[in-house]
Amino acid sequence: MNAKTMNPPKHLESLHHFIGGKRVSASGGRFGEIYNPAVGAVAKRVPLASAAEVETAIAAAFQAFPKWSAVAPGRRAQVMFAFRDLIKQHLDELAQLLSAEHGKTIDDAKGSLTRGLEVVEFACGISQLLKGEYSENVAGGVDSWSMRQPLGVCAGITPFNFPAMVPMWMFPMAIACGNTFVLKPSERDPSCPLRLAELMQQAGLPDGVLNVVNGDKEAVDTLLMDARVQGVSFVGSTAVGEYIYQTGTAHNKRVQALCGAKNHMVVMPDADIEQAVDAVMGAAYGSAGERCMAISVVVAIGDQTADALLEKLLPKLDALKVGPYTDASSEMGPIINPAAKARIEGYIGKGVAEGAQLVRDGRATVVKGAENGCFVGATVFDRVKTNMSIYTDEIFGPVLSIVRAESYEEAVRMVNQHEYGNGVAIFTRDGDAARDFAHRIQIGMVGINVPIPVPLAFHSFGGWKRSLFGDHAIHGPEGVRFYTRLKTITSRWPSGIRSGAVFNFKAGGEH
Ligand code: NAD
Repeated sequence: MNAKTMNPPKHLESLHHFIGGKRVSASGGRFGEIYNPAVGAVAKRVPLASAAEVETAIAAAFQAFPKWSAVAPGRRAQVMFAFRDLIKQHLDELAQLLSAEHGKTIDDAKGSLTRGLEVVEFACGISQLLKGEYSENVAGGVDSWSMRQPLGVCAGITPFNFPAMVPMWMFPMAIACGNTFVLKPSERDPSCPLRLAELMQQAGLPDGVLNVVNGDKEAVDTLLMDARVQGVSFVGSTAVGEYIYQTGTAHNKRVQALCGAKNHMVVMPDADIEQAVDAVMGAAYGSAGERCMAISVVVAIGDQTADALLEKLLPKLDALKVGPYTDASSEMGPIINPAAKARIEGYIGKGVAEGAQLVRDGRATVVKGAENGCFVGATVFDRVKTNMSIYTDEIFGPVLSIVRAESYEEAVRMVNQHEYGNGVAIFTRDGDAARDFAHRIQIGMVGINVPIPVPLAFHSFGGWKRSLFGDHAIHGPEGVRFYTRLKTITSRWPSGIRSGAVFNFKAGGEH
């Protein structure tokens, strides 16, 4: 687990759970540390819920379900409209909470809140989204129709890197569909999701429909094994996601687990190199590379392409301003905590040992005025080979590998053979190559001259291979399908009309 359960000092602010519409203080006695990575110090204590505490949240959601699922979708949408307005009003406050625990720049924090907000806006259209299908007269006098009904209590388990956006991929869709929800946010940055739950309450959500429990494996296991929980959405690392999928489905739950990634960007010799380099800057180093859609491998077709890319990339890297979110001119913030920083620096060491050429080394980065901050500077390796760990593993930091390929076919093979299948991009001016790439590539989300092809809220987000376990991508139409189950009704009414009867409901009349 990531939060240290080392009894962080008691004088620090202690967070709470949010259960049944109220802030609930911890009763379990275990706490983890919330670290402010820009400052480099432990800032708060987070309670790590016991199984009994999680069960109270499940019970609150279970109790709220019958009433909430009976509320008309249009009325459920009214809560989403009000929630949308509240997020806009509280955007600065939410971004501050998020950056103080995650470390990303305020602009990045606001950008992620806006992407979450788009899912809320999509959920506002729930009446339209839940419309069923109808077939008249499928046999003589027989009609058939289908409708989608909510599952019951659903749970969400979310990662540290998008503490607001990823929960908002889940609970607005689940709740708009008529479910109740228990969210277990990352124990590393839970303040923003806790505040979002309060804003949902303020927006008019009845008590118990959305609950937040803080915790670690004990909390997660309780959610996975409790028979009252019907659906589980997970976003996080592949090792944990595979466990969640296997454990949740073994307990007969519907599970979607969106996991780790290693996203390639293929740069063809005919690409606009300036455009490709700008794309790499944002996609490899934005949010310090702690993004499941970050580009961490550039596959340059031909040495000339690789050389041209590096020539334009390196001056931009040298000018990249690394710093804390409190400095508005910072372009890249810190890494989430010292353990994650040590892990990233360990990979840089391995890359050198494995024989890749380290062109820029971010390990010794010190930021003036934030000397204790958890910073790793932008790092680039050239001449990376596909058997090196910096190529095979998800590093989840600002480390880019450049692989030199001899041909387009070699690049396609490389991408398709990688165990992850979240996102990929091709940069080219050749429509034929782009079309072929989109068709043959074994990846869930594909960008053509777009480095981070994150689908908007009305499409669905999800990878292939070991980047997603389960059958459903998240939000958009797939979100509605995941959070509802299909019921199909076939009906026949005894018909007096077809046998020539006349309707007359007066006493003694013929019918
Ligand atoms: P993580 O897997 O460590 O944690 C995710 C969640 O699982 C947290 O809530 C955590 O408390 C819980 N958890 C951790 N260990 C557990 C265990 N042993 N048993 C049960 N629950 C456990 O992930 P993270 O470090 O917070 O986030 C980074 C990872 O998330 C990266 O791999 C990244 O690619 C992935 N991610 C994927 C997507 C996507 O859409 N595919 C999006 C964002 C992040």
